[in-house]
Amino acid sequence: MADSTGFLKHERALPPRRPVDVRILDWKDVYLTRQTGEDGVFPVGAIRQQAARCMDCGIPFCHHGCPLGNLIPEWNDLARRDDWTEAIERLHATNNFPEFTGKLCPAPCEGSCVLNLQESPVTIKQIEWEIIDQAFQRDLVKPVPPQEHTGKKVAVIGSGPAGLAAAQQLTRAGHDVTVYERADRVGGLLRYGIPEFKMEKAVLDRRLDQMRAEGTRFVTGVEVGGSGAGDLSVEQLRAEYDAVVLAGGATLGRDLTAPGRELTGIHLAMEYLPFGNRQALGELDAPPINAHGKHVVIIGGGDTGADCLGTAHRQGAASVTQLEIMPAPPDRRDQASNPWPTYPMIMRVSSAHEEGGERLYSINTERFLGDEDGNLRALLVHDVERVDGRFQKVEGTERELPADLVFLAMGFTGAQREGLVDTLGVEVDGRGNIARDGEFMSTVPGVFVAGDMGRGQSLIVWAIAEGRAAAGAVDTWLTGASMLPRPVTPTAVALR
Ligand SMILES: Cc1cc2nc3c(=O)[nH]c(=O)nc-3n(C[C@H](O)[C@H](O)[C@H](O)COP(=O)(O)OP(=O)(O)OC[C@H]3O[C@@H](n4cnc5c(N)ncnc54)[C@H](O)[C@@H]3O)c2cc1C
Ligand code: SF4
Repeated sequence: MADSTGFLKHERALPPRRPVDVRILDWKDVYLTRQTGEDGVFPVGAIRQQAARCMDCGIPFCHHGCPLGNLIPEWNDLARRDDWTEAIERLHATNNFPEFTGKLCPAPCEGSCVLNLQESPVTIKQIEWEIIDQAFQRDLVKPVPPQEHTGKKVAVIGSGPAGLAAAQQLTRAGHDVTVYERADRVGGLLRYGIPEFKMEKAVLDRRLDQMRAEGTRFVTGVEVGGSGAGDLSVEQLRAEYDAVVLAGGATLGRDLTAPGRELTGIHLAMEYLPFGNRQALGELDAPPINAHGKHVVIIGGGDTGADCLGTAHRQGAASVTQLEIMPAPPDRRDQASNPWPTYPMIMRVSSAHEEGGERLYSINTERFLGDEDGNLRALLVHDVERVDGRFQKVEGTERELPADLVFLAMGFTGAQREGLVDTLGVEVDGRGNIARDGEFMSTVPGVFVAGDMGRGQSLIVWAIAEGRAAAGAVDTWLTGASMLPRPVTPTAVALR
């Protein structure tokens, strides 16, 4: 039974981030870790007090906000009572990787929390992180190998959160699962997109150790359907495996075809961020794209842009400006157009935004300007306003914004076609995603699709939910029935 008046006794509170002037000198997590003294700053008792704010309201809208259907009030109460063993049992029942979401989820659950009617939701995401971190500390996260083997072979293409979730579920269901990843390391965007200061790669690696111990096989440096010497052909894939899960992500970055795009110094965000991640891990001293001493402009105001911002500051950029074509969101939700329990569309300040840089809104890039050697020197920008739902230039607002480096962080346009998708012959929908039926199956029998590759650019929590659900569909297809849960359908959308 929850503490029904806990929310009256305790204010919402979160652990502090490390001071900005200290943290931008390194790549480590912006939060203190337990090893570096978290207990002294925000002790576990403080987290338990926060968990006590969950009143077990009877109709937990947080369940609807979370695509995984996490059993939030149950584990809040277990955390409150210091029962980390039961808490991680309940959390793992719906989420394979609470450490990824506990660090990185934008927490739509908190938007739906009943206490968010008063704009002070339970700190659900932080409690989720604490439960899994306590569980690893207490050696409660053990391999869960299958009790029986089906003899069926499944290939999972792509090792992001969707592929990993599908692989773990299918391995545990007794199938012989191999995950193929074309990069040199496993993890998808968790490895080379999301920077170390948001989630340290050690957090990913400790989970991969569990998966390997359960029997999931990982093959890296192999592009399925690729033309390289060691790549796996589509013919080999179909011949060797009984079922295939495509989880290759939405890797095509949206480009900006403004005049001057060919100038030196303009890059897609995902051309830049992997080098930053390698630098953070000490694998690269001098990344080929480096913001050190440069005036940087980031086009795009979302997560990816914020990751470029934090990376550029750590590399020692001279200045960083982030441009967004949309107007600045309000500080508080508009109750008429964006009511509780939907996700609040409000101004958010990520850790990277705290570290400096300027954010400019309602601004469009007209062209890139270069010097006589073909190097970028500035952007020609102008203000925009919305007229009948369309952006229109505000005449007379043209100005130059000096820049040596531009990162395009304007989202993704779908799955890469060349190679695997084209050769397999799966149908692609009008949005550039791989088409699938209600059972996550593509137009090619036995080939399933999960995560951003089917849904389009989304979130880690959706990728895990899709991986779990697609695994249920694959298991049913292979064996005729399945006990695996299916938290979402391919067409499920966020609460709105
Ligand atoms: C920079 C950035 C920051 C983000 N930050 C957040 C965040 O803070 N919180 C959040 O919730 N979401 C965030 N997202 C979104 C989130 O990372 C994605 O929604 C999620 O990773 C999608 O998971 P996925 O498994 O579908 O694909 P991905 O993570 O994209 O993984 C796909 C993998 O498949 C591999 N692959 C593709 N084709 C082949 C092939 N033919 N053979 C072998 N391997 C192949 C790719 O190399 C890649 O590693 C961010 C996205 C970006 C780009
Ligand atoms: S996964 Fe995200 S939405 Fe679900 S409980 Fe955790 S923070 Fe909330």
